[in-house]
Amino acid sequence: MPLRVTVWHEFRHEKKNATVAKIYPKGMHEAIAQHLRKSTDLVIKTATLDEPEHGLTDEVLKNTDVLTWWGHMAHGDVKDEIAAKVAKRVYEGMGLVVLHSGHLSKPFVKLMGTTGFLKWREAGEKERIWVVSPGHPITRGLSSDCIVIDHEEMYGEHFDIPDPDELIFISWFEGGEVFRSGCVWKRGAGKIFYFRPGHETFPSYHHPDVLKVIENGCRYVAPASEVVPFRASCPRIEPSLEPIKTVHVVDESIHRR
Ligand code: ZN
Repeated sequence: MPLRVTVWHEFRHEKKNATVAKIYPKGMHEAIAQHLRKSTDLVIKTATLDEPEHGLTDEVLKNTDVLTWWGHMAHGDVKDEIAAKVAKRVYEGMGLVVLHSGHLSKPFVKLMGTTGFLKWREAGEKERIWVVSPGHPITRGLSSDCIVIDHEEMYGEHFDIPDPDELIFISWFEGGEVFRSGCVWKRGAGKIFYFRPGHETFPSYHHPDVLKVIENGCRYVAPASEVVPFRASCPRIEPSLEPIKTVHVVDESIHRR
């Protein structure tokens, strides 16, 4: 079965900022989608904020195994009901890859239950993204155990997230800060991967290793099996000759205290 990935993008900066438009003439989502389309086992679709229902209709969400999310200047324009539908699909098993400033997006904040706040500095500093989980599938095919990006926005700790279930990358910036830049969480039947790079005025989504991590991330958070409903009325499975009796067990020791 091919893996159905929907690349979601806010797609506003490219329309307003000539620098961003020059780096990503077709939008950041197309730079990411273009890479993913090279894999014949992936079926790639894109969706953007200004499409009806942000391009995320019930039909699209139902037929998405993994959703990637980049947003920044217009988090507030994302309709609450669409964010809720995204979160619901994650609980049902859809994978979610949240990129860069998506740390403040409605679906991410909702799924984390924390503010998602962090420190930042837009100074085009060098970033070293260190692999801290060698052998993890998300690091497959990287050219070394450290991805170097010459110019990026700095994100620093403290990053207000729940402790990740898996920590794959830690970033170092030349200003001295460090950051948990590759984290995985499980929510319901779904998995979420947060990956840090991708400030709009730097060409990070043209970096082969960054694209490779996004691709690996999509594969890693993909539903592992058919979704099993985990909330349903439950008929009795084990046969029994006797009707079930309610049994009250009294611990005598409690009364002796
Ligand atoms: Zn940024």
